[in-house]
Amino acid sequence: MVAEAGCAGLVSPVYPTPWPIGRALEAECDARRREPLRPWKLRPPEHAAPAPTCSCGVHAVSLPGDLAAYVPSVAGRRIVHRVVGRVAMWGEVVEGPRGWRASRAYPAELWVPEVHVNGRRVAGLEAMALDLAGYGVPVHLCAGMTARDLVDELACDRAPGLDAAAQRRRLSSRPGALIPRR
Ligand SMILES: [Zn+2]
Repeated sequence: MVAEAGCAGLVSPVYPTPWPIGRALEAECDARRREPLRPWKLRPPEHAAPAPTCSCGVHAVSLPGDLAAYVPSVAGRRIVHRVVGRVAMWGEVVEGPRGWRASRAYPAELWVPEVHVNGRRVAGLEAMALDLAGYGVPVHLCAGMTARDLVDELACDRAPGLDAAAQRRRLSSRPGALIPRR
């Protein structure tokens, strides 16, 4: 997640792809689009995403624990706050060993950790959550937790930010994960 022009929004943890508000993120294949000698020139995509033999598409993992690879345990030089989410995917969907790649996706539910990996409370968290509410899906502020704590909780089938009764209602629907990617 990054802040742009004072407004927080979702962006892929892998590519600089922003997740638009109010409409689906549509996947495009970026593979082999850059010419080796003229990398600034983009060729048109060779196929529609997701292709079975490529890695393109909007990615989601089926087990929240697999998100740990995308959530740094130490702070990098450029601190970007990570949020975790469940995602709706449709259109073309390719199933893989750890989840899915889809042609279209939209967030379904978001969990926002209160604490950075560096241990500091995130500044402007409420404003950030309000910006994320623009996606029109439930946004949970998770007090005292880092993104890594959140992943651990979700991996144990607990949904942070919900009361005990809501937790039990959720147990039938395991949360997936939000890995937008082109
Ligand atoms: Zn591709």
